[in-house]
Amino acid sequence: MEIKIEKAKVLKEKPDFSKLGFGKYFTDHMFLMDYYDGKWQNARIVPFGYIPIHPASTVLHYGAEIFEGMKAYKTEDGYQMFRPYENAKRFNDSAERLCLPQVPEEDFVQAIIELINVDYSWIPTASGTSLYIRPFMYGNDEALGVHAVHNATFAVILSPVGNYYSSGLAPVKIAIESEDVRAVRGGTGYAKCGGNYAASLRAGKRAEEKGISQVLWLDGVERKYIEEVGAMNVMFKIDGTIVTPKLTGSVLPGITRKSCIDILRDWGYNVEERLLSVDELLSSAENGKLDEAWGTGTAAVVSPIGLLTYKGKDHIISNNTIGELTQKLYNELTGIQWGRIPDTRNWILKVKVK
Ligand SMILES: *Cc1c(COP(=O)(O)O)cnc(C)c1O
Repeated sequence: MEIKIEKAKVLKEKPDFSKLGFGKYFTDHMFLMDYYDGKWQNARIVPFGYIPIHPASTVLHYGAEIFEGMKAYKTEDGYQMFRPYENAKRFNDSAERLCLPQVPEEDFVQAIIELINVDYSWIPTASGTSLYIRPFMYGNDEALGVHAVHNATFAVILSPVGNYYSSGLAPVKIAIESEDVRAVRGGTGYAKCGGNYAASLRAGKRAEEKGISQVLWLDGVERKYIEEVGAMNVMFKIDGTIVTPKLTGSVLPGITRKSCIDILRDWGYNVEERLLSVDELLSSAENGKLDEAWGTGTAAVVSPIGLLTYKGKDHIISNNTIGELTQKLYNELTGIQWGRIPDTRNWILKVKVK
């Protein structure tokens, strides 16, 4: 793919890299390309800025939008990414579900690499910081008829992000959500699309008002089986065995989830991907068999759960501290991602910058 590069005439002043937070600052450039007449055209890197959009554009009315979330980590002679081709594959699975066009995997990764190369000076260096990469695509037909789109835009933006755990890995409180559901089987749960997030906001807001970080989603049919925690996958250590909800179609197939399963199996753990009911989970908590619980996702990597609340009853996990295995898994995965631990599984893509 040939990418035209138009550099910004004036570069932005960089923010204080010790106070980045998440997704608040954006680099000097962005990648864009348009799909029309049945093919991708006009791949370009341009100064970061507003994107004009037709008021009847499909995305504004019918939510034709998908995205990805990944990170680049600074190395001595460039940067490295964690399993970017997995994101490229998942992006196309999401596109297929929403009837958006496919992006060749090589082009997806090339767009990201060329953009980062232009904005290389924006990769933060402090421990725990990284450059968050947000590829996204939206349907862009300029008409109100409802059908699969013929026009779309693929974009990549970059945001330097701080250490998610600036004050250390800390356990969070989770409410089991018995009213709203995030996704249903046969729906778009396995696709990384904006619509799933729109459906999840109300429960998240209600939880936040009660001082609770996230909700634990149950399946949309029986409200019985555990699916995900907030926008992360979830894992439990029950009586020594690792249990994680299986990918039924309404659960997002997380790359962190998949990587954790591989690492845990390599460590000799029995990992079960299966249906796990709330009843089973809470009775294991009551019988002292729920050793640890954690969420997995690109932003937080591994996030310990210290408390589950359901129908007015609280269940404390690991004495509301970070479980031993949770901490070990966090150290291993972040170690591989930042290059402190050798990459024995060929998960890392290194890019040299001159
Ligand atoms: C992105 C996402 C995840 C985590 O996926 P990773 O590939 O591990 O970042 C989990 N659940 C939802 C709903 C997501 O959108």
